[in-house]
Amino acid sequence: MIQEIADRVFVELDYEGANVGCVLTDAGAIVIDTPIVPDEARHWADTVSKLTDKVLYVFNTDHHRAHIMGNQFFDAPVLAHEAAWKEMTNYKDTFIERTKNLFKKRPDIQKQLDQVKIIRPEVCFTGKLVMQKGGRELHFTYLGGHTPATSGLFLPKERILFTGDLVVVDEHPALGQCNSEEWLTKLRWLRKQKYAQIVPGHGPLCNVEASEPVSEYIRAMRSRVRSQFKSGRSKAEAAVVISQMLDFFPYRQGEKSIIEKRIRAGVSRVYDEMKAMYAQGQDNSKIAG
Ligand SMILES: [Zn+2]
Repeated sequence: MIQEIADRVFVELDYEGANVGCVLTDAGAIVIDTPIVPDEARHWADTVSKLTDKVLYVFNTDHHRAHIMGNQFFDAPVLAHEAAWKEMTNYKDTFIERTKNLFKKRPDIQKQLDQVKIIRPEVCFTGKLVMQKGGRELHFTYLGGHTPATSGLFLPKERILFTGDLVVVDEHPALGQCNSEEWLTKLRWLRKQKYAQIVPGHGPLCNVEASEPVSEYIRAMRSRVRSQFKSGRSKAEAAVVISQMLDFFPYRQGEKSIIEKRIRAGVSRVYDEMKAMYAQGQDNSKIAG
């Protein structure tokens, strides 16, 4: 159900996939992310059309399927970090096929996904984009960590931050494309901010402290993968970490294999990070020596 969390600032947390939002200005609306399931994306577009007769931009907080697959249902250009545009430019037909694999038990949704056209960003930024529009100030800001594209929307007057997947609540964060060190640093920074409200990428509305379990998860992943790497185990052998991470957050019945896949991608990413870090360390010591 749609909720108004501040004057003309709306969120909908109940769709499959990521949270979505809508911020109204006197000149039209900014939509934040679009649902993965086409019927829900259409429902979201309908809901937004009851709030405004003009959508100015659809803002994608990153390029992942849970945020972008409903872009086509809005008659507005997509705004995102430049890295999201780059990623989405490389999406092939297999992208939709792989999305269907997430809904193996839902043939009705698989059928709907055949209609999806990927709408790529037309307007991109890298650091920060400040928009003064219809009496409202909006800061689109690179956050990073989760992906090189991860960005948030900050409303300075209301002190509300839409974090994208920098923060997820009660859900396994996806580390497959992360920079885990940057992610930890950004979350530490976040917890020093005074925000009235955080709209996480997934999960219920929260405050900055609710990002602590994500930090714990990333720290645990790093230390477990590091010890695998340092004991000389291969990436395949480091997969033992998957079962150790599984109970960090709840997951729905029947979704175990999807979550294991997500953790596996994280182990692989962090393993590569460790490899690069220690390789560099060795090079440095050679130079030093
Ligand atoms: Zn994401």
